[in-house]
Amino acid sequence: MGSLCNTYFENENVSLKDYYSENIYTWCTNCGNYGIAAATKRALVAENIVPKDTFMCFDIGCNGNGSDKIGGYRLHGLHGRVIPVATGAALANRKMTVIASGGDGATLSEGIGHLVHAIRSNYNITFLMHNNCNYGLTTGQASASTRPGIPMNSSPDGTTADTMNFMNFVLSLGASFAARTFSGNVDQMTEVIRAGIRHIGFSVVEILQNCPTYNKDTTHEWYQNRVYDTIELNDFDNTNLDSALNISKDMSERIATGILYVNPNSVPFDQRLENRKGYTTELVDEVKSYNNVSQELFSRFV
Ligand code: SF4
Ligand code: MG
Repeated sequence: MGSLCNTYFENENVSLKDYYSENIYTWCTNCGNYGIAAATKRALVAENIVPKDTFMCFDIGCNGNGSDKIGGYRLHGLHGRVIPVATGAALANRKMTVIASGGDGATLSEGIGHLVHAIRSNYNITFLMHNNCNYGLTTGQASASTRPGIPMNSSPDGTTADTMNFMNFVLSLGASFAARTFSGNVDQMTEVIRAGIRHIGFSVVEILQNCPTYNKDTTHEWYQNRVYDTIELNDFDNTNLDSALNISKDMSERIATGILYVNPNSVPFDQRLENRKGYTTELVDEVKSYNNVSQELFSRFV
């Protein structure tokens, strides 16, 4: 294995070109999605995961326009429903690395119930929440994470509903892995996504993403002037949930990024199931064996 930096591009079994797609990016110039796509590919290469062992699910939104820009198995689903699809895949075949992507519009509205139950069930997937604080794909409506009073296309006089702090919400539910990163810092994003992939349980990665076309408030520069990495703090313990809750609160002056919380005793959903204990086969193998039985039965009657 090469140096840390080189493993982003080439590893023992896989290189960045294995995740190459010939489809042309359609995101706006300077969109944060470019950095997120690069960090996701780098993380998979650095973790030495080949495309055939990867399943990436995308919600509807600008994030979803990345669904055909990366190699591997992919699914582009319904608005707000990416978590259940990804969860089903992960439960059917635990050998796959499953990554789900969704935006703030879908996740904090239609998808919020799925998020809550995925956290409490601790399904073993990595969820990348592209938080650009608006509905970008549908041209700049306010979402639940748009900052207070900001004029958006759906609310030209400024938003009136209170703003949700996504990370604080996730931590209040006791997520077993919670990280926050910034689309302008590809190296940090890569490392955080890698840690999310390695974590056994539901890994939530909030990506503070700029949307230069529709969000003129939380711009790249706005974040750049406020984010800091908790790794620089001497006294921050990311296994302490109360500390993580506390440090996640500030979303206007100093914004904490990095791995904010990891539960060292995380037990994922599939290891909690009494009736699966002792099974060495995957659900996908069992379905195949049922298929064989039914084909045999079918052949007796034709
Ligand atoms: Fe990116 Fe915003 Fe353009 Fe969507 S609308 S591609 S989030 S800049
Ligand atoms: Mg959005």
